[in-house]
Amino acid sequence: METLIPIINRLQEVFLTVGAEIIQLPQIVVVGSQSSGKSSVLESLVGRDFLPRGSGIVTRRPLVLQLVNVPPLEERRKQDNGNGAKHNSQNNYPGIKAEEWGTFLHCKNQIFTDFSEIQKEIEEETDRSTNHKGISSEPIYLKIYSPNVVSLTLVDLPGITKVPVGDQPEDIETQVQDMILSYISNPNSLILCVSPANSDLATSDALKLAREVDPDGRRTLLVVSKLDLMDAGTDALEVLLGRIIPVRLGIIGVVNRSQHDLNTQKSLADSCKDEQVFLQRYYPSLASRCGSRYLARTLSRLLMHHIRDCLPELKTRVTVLSAQYQSRLNSYGQPVEDHSATLLQIVTKFASDYCNTIEGTARHIQTSELCGGARICYIFHETFGRTLQSIDPLGGLTELDILTAIRNATGPRPALFVPEVSFELLVKKQIKRLEEPSLRCVELVHEELQRIIQHCSAYSTQELLRFPKLHDSIVEVVTSLLRKRLPVTNEMVHHLVAIELAYINTKHPDFTDAAQVSASVNSQQVLKLSLSLRISLSLQIQTGLVFVLSSLSQAEAGDGGKRWKNEKMPSEDKGPVPGFGSPTKAINLLDTAMPVSRKLSTREQRDCEVIQRLIKCYFLIVRKSIQDSVPKTVMHFLVNFVKEHLQSELVGQLYKQPLLQELLIESQETAQQRTEVAQMLEALKKASNIISEIRETHLW
Ligand code: GDP
Ligand code: MG
Repeated sequence: METLIPIINRLQEVFLTVGAEIIQLPQIVVVGSQSSGKSSVLESLVGRDFLPRGSGIVTRRPLVLQLVNVPPLEERRKQDNGNGAKHNSQNNYPGIKAEEWGTFLHCKNQIFTDFSEIQKEIEEETDRSTNHKGISSEPIYLKIYSPNVVSLTLVDLPGITKVPVGDQPEDIETQVQDMILSYISNPNSLILCVSPANSDLATSDALKLAREVDPDGRRTLLVVSKLDLMDAGTDALEVLLGRIIPVRLGIIGVVNRSQHDLNTQKSLADSCKDEQVFLQRYYPSLASRCGSRYLARTLSRLLMHHIRDCLPELKTRVTVLSAQYQSRLNSYGQPVEDHSATLLQIVTKFASDYCNTIEGTARHIQTSELCGGARICYIFHETFGRTLQSIDPLGGLTELDILTAIRNATGPRPALFVPEVSFELLVKKQIKRLEEPSLRCVELVHEELQRIIQHCSAYSTQELLRFPKLHDSIVEVVTSLLRKRLPVTNEMVHHLVAIELAYINTKHPDFTDAAQVSASVNSQQVLKLSLSLRISLSLQIQTGLVFVLSSLSQAEAGDGGKRWKNEKMPSEDKGPVPGFGSPTKAINLLDTAMPVSRKLSTREQRDCEVIQRLIKCYFLIVRKSIQDSVPKTVMHFLVNFVKEHLQSELVGQLYKQPLLQELLIESQETAQQRTEVAQMLEALKKASNIISEIRETHLW
């Protein structure tokens, strides 16, 4: 087993760097009938007396024995004094002044340095949960720390019995069998079948159980114990040669200490010597392939095989990790040597990343949300376009507003036709409403351009993360460039609306038709109306309806009324048109503020309609043009301008000799990460070397 220790320890170093335990040594489970010598075999493997042994049922609970290799006490002391000078190999067991010690899971904080104490504790703990001679499947967990053991798990199990004794239950046989099966069916366990030489191998229950879970015999090793106790005239040669029952991994005969030896406290070392003498004497041809030492070597070899099988995977892992760390190291870049070149390179890269993000040709294209140029397009056509579309051409204009405008435009003279001034007045009012959403559009695009800065520094120009000062400066320069362009663009958009307001082009090709139609309708209607008015008036007078005519129709109607209103007068009030009707009514009509929801006359309605239709028509023309020209303006004055001037602006502002040094100071974080990653790479290289050394130098 000793040969394994340095290898496992070196691998441990690899694990420390790689950070995962890929090679898990198989746990070794001893199986055999009662008193066949299982505990004795385990002890000779560990090299220390600590297991309760004896005749009858001694092991009555599974003992899961974890061996942990620790540095020798001397070395640990040094590490303690050196206060962890070597980073990785700090003493994990401070305060323990023993070379070897053990701990139990059930008494956590207690450290057993005396192995006979351990033996006693196992006995006591066994008795605590089992009755007299009863068994329990509840394992006892024992950890042995020593520089002389391989980190590995051994399991000592109660022996197979047939007949219950003492307080043992009737089904003790199946209970024990189940318990054994639960341990040996784990594919990562090596089954050590212990069978005494003085009983027939063919009756070995241990082998039978092992066959059940390992029919191919890939992980079963047979140990024939008590070679010294054979009947006179018999020997185990046939068995050991595998002629009775072949076992793939091998059959190894051993001689452990007898009960007499245990009683007289014979040491393991002495017993080992005596074993060799015995084997030389009785099995000279097999002496080199038997004995506790050979058993240990065989186990070592099996474990080595296991390690060898795991090594390729470990090697792959180390290689993969190396590549990962190498690329991380590359991403941190080399320490800056040529400041001006580095700055120019980063600034240029940022500028081109910025433009690419707008153009949609960037390498880092987000899939979670729109960004860059695509978002600008969205702002233009969805946000802005839809807002404009949702503006009602006549929104905020009541018919009364229109009427008032018409009347105000005619001044003191009553007008025959709808005055054009009122149309201009009203349509301008509507056009002004386009300005606010247009300015909002500029704002949104500006915000997006601002966002692209963040996007580029986070995703595209990774180098920027190294230089926080340069990063901040770039953000500042671009932000101020954007901010400078904002008023210019806003003003231009303002102008666009002002231009529309400056001249109401009623000769606009899309408008003239509509205007003509309205105008003709207008004049025809005026004629028709005056005619029908007269007729209806006379009719209405006859039917007793009183009209107060509007000033417009006043002349035509030949009536003195200032407005006309199809207000129904009480029917008693018949007679010729009474001018203002009854005096009280007339005063009321004149003095009260115009009711908001009064009914409009036909003429008023018609005038309103004409104006509304014209406004709508003209407004749509202007809206279309604004919808078209605002995005163009924003592109020209803001987006394209920034795109074109970004690089020169950045270089102009940042590429100044006295600034260079300061801007290119690396962030503390990056510098630290670089050293860490470099260290890790170094460790991985070492790990890789260790692995190849192990693969080359050790004969398996
Ligand atoms: P377990 O019940 O299978 O764990 O067996 P133990 O290890 O407790 O041993 C049972 C008894 O057999 C003890 O008294 C041992 O001293 C004795 N014993 C075990 N192996 C040998 C051996 O190879 N030769 C002799 N003479 N006695 C042995
Ligand atoms: Mg035992």
